[in-house]
Amino acid sequence: MLQVEHLSKSFGGLLAIDDLSLTVEKGQFVGILGANGAGKTTLLNLITGYLKPSSGSIVFEGKPIDGLAPYRVARTGIARTFQVVQPFNEMSVLDNVIAGALFSKPDQRLPLKQVREFCMEPLRLVGLDRQASQSAGALTLGAKKKLEFARALATQPRLLLLDEVMGGLNHAEIEDIKQVLSGIHQGGTSILMIEHVVQALIELSDYVYVVNFGRELTRGRPHDVIHDENVIEAYLGKPLDLPHA
Ligand code: ATP
Repeated sequence: MLQVEHLSKSFGGLLAIDDLSLTVEKGQFVGILGANGAGKTTLLNLITGYLKPSSGSIVFEGKPIDGLAPYRVARTGIARTFQVVQPFNEMSVLDNVIAGALFSKPDQRLPLKQVREFCMEPLRLVGLDRQASQSAGALTLGAKKKLEFARALATQPRLLLLDEVMGGLNHAEIEDIKQVLSGIHQGGTSILMIEHVVQALIELSDYVYVVNFGRELTRGRPHDVIHDENVIEAYLGKPLDLPHA
């Protein structure tokens, strides 16, 4: 579905992404681990058109997308969330989702009633349907993250890119978000997730890449990756004590 090949991005003398290759198969849930500054957000910015690669290629469903503007990438069927959630606070939860849906399909002319019904579906999926008419600014951080998923899902993506959606959440909120992400994945959306909450990433992902200084350190099945000595040394610091790991 997504093929990133020999991707590099430099900022002046700093090589933030260095000859990185990865793939996401249709239906896969792929996780990316890496220390602060490893280049993870830069990778998402390259895939979604916020940055142009210095070299390498990005192909989505057989078509090159590197160098496309963000709104054009969004219209190919890729949606993303951002590390810092910024809903339109004064608008209702539902209107935030409607804004996302209309942005992605400006040519589609549907009666507003139909758009509202259509946008209730992602809110149901993330469990925010009962707060649809509440103002977005009044939501908790966990609920704002879910609103970010709903907004992305309203664009009907086939691939969803998640940038540290669990940062700043408490244990209960993380468990809740895990359930929501599982549901989105089981609904047929492929997912590429960057996350520092290692346990959640390991539990959700089918396959994991570990990035260090913009380069691939290793890749593999989640439980193999977290036992890799290089990963323990460069990222985890010590072996993880995970149930069934
Ligand atoms: P974190 O986990 O802290 O979010 P990250 O793995 O997402 O980190 P990036 O934000 O991709 O890391 O940054 C990778 C490197 O590129 C860092 O050294 C960062 O300072 C640098 N960098 C990122 N964006 C820019 C930019 N626009 N201009 C210059 N340097 C940048």
